[in-house]
Amino acid sequence: MFDKELLAWHDAHARDLPWCGENDPYRIWISEIMLQQTRTETVAGYYHAFLSEFPDVFALAEADIERVFKKWEGLGYYSRARNLHKAAQIVAGELGGRMPDTAEGLLKLPGVGDYTAGAIASMAFQRRELAMDGNVVRVLSRVLCERRCVGETAVRKDLKKAGTALMPESRPGDFNQAMMGLGNMVCVPVHPKCGSCPVRAYCRAEQEGVQAELPKLPPKPEKKNLPVGVALVFSGKRVLLVRRPDEGLLAGMWAFPSFEGARGEKDVREALKEMGVDAGKGVKLTDAQHIFTHRVWKMKGYRYDVRTVGETEGRRLVDLRGLDEAALPTAFRAYRTAARDMLERMTEEE
Ligand code: SF4
Repeated sequence: MFDKELLAWHDAHARDLPWCGENDPYRIWISEIMLQQTRTETVAGYYHAFLSEFPDVFALAEADIERVFKKWEGLGYYSRARNLHKAAQIVAGELGGRMPDTAEGLLKLPGVGDYTAGAIASMAFQRRELAMDGNVVRVLSRVLCERRCVGETAVRKDLKKAGTALMPESRPGDFNQAMMGLGNMVCVPVHPKCGSCPVRAYCRAEQEGVQAELPKLPPKPEKKNLPVGVALVFSGKRVLLVRRPDEGLLAGMWAFPSFEGARGEKDVREALKEMGVDAGKGVKLTDAQHIFTHRVWKMKGYRYDVRTVGETEGRRLVDLRGLDEAALPTAFRAYRTAARDMLERMTEEE
């Protein structure tokens, strides 16, 4: 049987990851959210550090969002951290600290989609819910020899139905992990290792010799290049940070003032003026770029020295220590390093 062969392989080959064998819903949830858009190897380094700072859902719910961002720093896609925090507040408050124990209930939490709901429900609550990530879609499309585009909703629905039918009543969480592991180690995108595949006997694509052509993926949307002007505004031995709007990219995070669409120094200076920061001509800094899911920021940076900046709720000046403690998006890494070097030099010159 498909499930028996797969689980036997899983028992012999499961990767030893920090969250393997875990059955605490909170800990599984954290690992699954971290894994959404970040590589397993990277997540392994963050998982324990995050849990030692926020050991349970109450600790996470009560934490200041800045602390959560700080622990998330480097994982990227910060909306995940924001949603995790919001969801923790719902679980700790409205739900009395108990995570929903069905995929349907989990789906109501911010940041929990189909895949994550299936993963938590199956691993923490032994529900027979398939968690379909990219690896599982690839394995299923090959086993079932699905030739239609897997980007189509109807096709994914069919895959989910067929995949769920393959799941055993017992060990549904292990089945999901086994499917993901198989996709990650054996049924890889290019040159699948069919010779060492535990479910080869059930694989229609392999029997027809078309496994390398599947899955049929939708065309990748083109990433849009966007010019962005970044301002390092110094006042004394402090540099300006502003809080980004609550909606959109890097929502609610502290960052250097940055302006999408600004093509040069003049645009940046004018944008600063609009926010009430009067500065003379800026000094050109390094260029940098950051790749988001659907866009690429082509950044040009400038340094400004001003006498004063009015600090408000969404605007603060930080010294070297404050900069080190701030959780800034990875997109600004090059400018953070530049600002740090400048502040360090200013401190040495004292
Ligand atoms: S036989 Fe090959 S294509 Fe089929 S599931 Fe196994 S590795 Fe993938």
